[in-house]
Amino acid sequence: TIETVGVVGLGNMGLPMAATLARKGFDVWGFDLSEERRRLAQAQGIHAVPELAGLLRRVDAVVASLPLGRDVEAMVRTPAGLLDRADRRVIVLDTSTADATTSRRLAALLASRGHGHLDAPVSGGPAGAAGGQLTMMIGGDDEDLSLARPVVEALAARAVHVGPSGAGNVAKLINNMLVAAHLITNGEAFRLAEAAGVKAEAVLEVVNAATGRSAVSEAFYPKWVLSGRFDSGFAAGLMRKDVGLAAEMAAELGLALPLSRHVAEIWSGSREELPDGADFTRMTRYQAPDRE
Ligand code: NAD
Repeated sequence: TIETVGVVGLGNMGLPMAATLARKGFDVWGFDLSEERRRLAQAQGIHAVPELAGLLRRVDAVVASLPLGRDVEAMVRTPAGLLDRADRRVIVLDTSTADATTSRRLAALLASRGHGHLDAPVSGGPAGAAGGQLTMMIGGDDEDLSLARPVVEALAARAVHVGPSGAGNVAKLINNMLVAAHLITNGEAFRLAEAAGVKAEAVLEVVNAATGRSAVSEAFYPKWVLSGRFDSGFAAGLMRKDVGLAAEMAAELGLALPLSRHVAEIWSGSREELPDGADFTRMTRYQAPDRE
């Protein structure tokens, strides 16, 4: 059974996940490169350590919440990283959004050394993480999942075992490819409404009671767009990464997805006006250049 959990990456998602695990009775150890994030974690009952190795010695499971697949790879392979320092069997629950190829490679590497690995990206944002209400999409084998189950259940209201290693990230990239498109189409739709002389709020009410609705219209617009708050806690740069990874996956599979490719071009072409650090819901306010 898992009693001690390490959370690596105490950012917008990692910190509230760590706090949720601590609240639910796990002994939680946290590591982040940023001293500020470690201080915040410490204030929430998490033992925050200044070195990765200090955490790895103590834990039965590692929840990773890092920006990129290559950051997770570094956590595993770096000297004084997981392969070097874990002295008992560790199960890695990788909640970072990454490409399926990296997940499969890490899962095979960890398995060859007796450790477990699940790609377990999440949806639901910082609020979902704080409430233990995330949706988790899992790739990996049944044995690893049954070991990790108590941690999965503490973090997620819904967990779908999508398939073998990599399948969780395939599902997550497809989810985010849809959200990335919805942000652009909703922005365009409500600009059109206003131009036609009808208030966006009124059209939004209609759409949300009709068939054009999505998470963007139902949740994002009221909470973050029309309120003018733009503080969802998900950075445009991370969404740009996800859209790029979905496009790479399509290219590798030789699939032409013309609309999705255009969505990816709009995300990558918007970096100057919508910097990586901006909230991703600001995409609704971005006017993409006219192609004609
Ligand atoms: P974030 O940038 O807020 O947090 C990442 C944290 O990792 C930072 O605190 C950073 O200092 C730390 N970090 C970076 N490299 C590190 C390393 N090598 N070792 C230790 N710490 C390191 O990002 P986030 O929004 O929490 O997202 C984390 C992951 O979850 C990303 O893959 C993202 O795409 C995904 N995600 C985010 C959300 C969201 O709403 N924010 C939702 C679902 C999935």
